Amino acid sequence: MSSPNMEVFQAAVLLFFFLVSKSGSEIFPLKSLGFDSFLTCLVEGGINPTDVVPRSDSEAYQTLNFQWQQKPPARIPAAYVVVRTENDVMEVVRCGRKLNVHLVPRGGAHSFEKFSFGQENSVVVDVKKLRTLSINQSAMAATVGAGWLVGPLTWALWEQGQSFTSLGICPSVGISGLATGGGYGYFHRQFGLTIDNILEMDVVTATGELMTVNRENNSDLFWALRGGVGSSFGIVTSFVLRIHRAPPAVFRGNLTFHVSQLEEVFTSWQSLVRTGNRSVTPFLTVRKGNIELAIVDWTGTEGNFNQLVDDFPPYDSRNGEVFIYPDFIESYAGKESPWLSMCVAIKQTKSVKFA
Ligand SMILES: Cc1cc2nc3c(=O)[nH]c(=O)nc-3n(C[C@H](O)[C@H](O)[C@H](O)COP(=O)(O)OP(=O)(O)OC[C@H]3O[C@@H](n4cnc5c(N)ncnc54)[C@H](O)[C@@H]3O)c2cc1C
Repeated sequence: MSSPNMEVFQAAVLLFFFLVSKSGSEIFPLKSLGFDSFLTCLVEGGINPTDVVPRSDSEAYQTLNFQWQQKPPARIPAAYVVVRTENDVMEVVRCGRKLNVHLVPRGGAHSFEKFSFGQENSVVVDVKKLRTLSINQSAMAATVGAGWLVGPLTWALWEQGQSFTSLGICPSVGISGLATGGGYGYFHRQFGLTIDNILEMDVVTATGELMTVNRENNSDLFWALRGGVGSSFGIVTSFVLRIHRAPPAVFRGNLTFHVSQLEEVFTSWQSLVRTGNRSVTPFLTVRKGNIELAIVDWTGTEGNFNQLVDDFPPYDSRNGEVFIYPDFIESYAGKESPWLSMCVAIKQTKSVKFA
């Protein structure tokens, strides 16, 4: 007798092949990739059939396959598997290995090059549901599931531990790509990049084994996973990140200049980056004929800003504000913010933005 789980699965397989034939098997040779066996293997391994979403016009697939990066070509991977536990990740890797399926991990899906969408024959392993968080105050470390996005994680670290770590600015970026690739943000000059704050990772390797990697254990893999090609070595399921006490307040100030002053402003900015107080992180953006210099100081005081202003050429406008810490988070990662449009605006200025 088949279990209810198996019946759901069989229905999903039927629907899957219906959708495949509807979509045109000459474009999407899913069947020839052996996906029926892959699906069977996943479900037998305990993965819920509804967490396996094959390529189709379905809302579930289109939602998972949303690409904020509009530059063609759009990527249309063969399927998504939404993983909810480390065990799920191990099962996907075990089945993928057994049946020779190309797997690609995905966190926040913000890869500029769309690396996390794979190719037509890829199955994307979506880790966004891996959202555990535990904070060890005495060790000043947080164990963070690989599915967190920057905005919610920044809030959670504050709410659960009055702490923070060096994270990115765009709230919808994922911790996985950010941390393994680098990760600059408002506080990186004082606390290092996100990658500098990784103490340990749990990772499922290509053999399907779950390993803990840090400076002492599996240190080669720990090294290899940090530097932007982490997905070549395994699927990270969680990070242990160094955390810091959240400051009571943060100062943010802005100066604007005319674009004709670019050389002078740029030179002053470089000098500030080389020699200036590390509590200050300056961002220089050239946009629509103006230069904007944003200064963030995690000590929450205006003094450093007032001093460094004298080292810059005459400016057109100046403003500054002290935020109590949670208000500072709200200013760039508001709980209700239209994150995506905000981050796309960041992306549009990327080619002329320096941090
Ligand atoms: C709008 C926008 C704003 C940005 N702002 C910032 C910023 O403020 N600061 C900054 O430093 N960067 C910023 N970035 C760059 C961003 O950090 C990188 O693109 C990063 O790789 C995105 O991570 P992700 O998890 O969202 O992306 P994804 O596309 O999911 O993943 C990126 C890469 O990591 C791999 N990967 C994903 N999950 C895992 C995993 N669990 N294990 C192993 N490998 C994995 C993927 O396969 C892919 O190769 C921004 C990017 C965009 C598009």
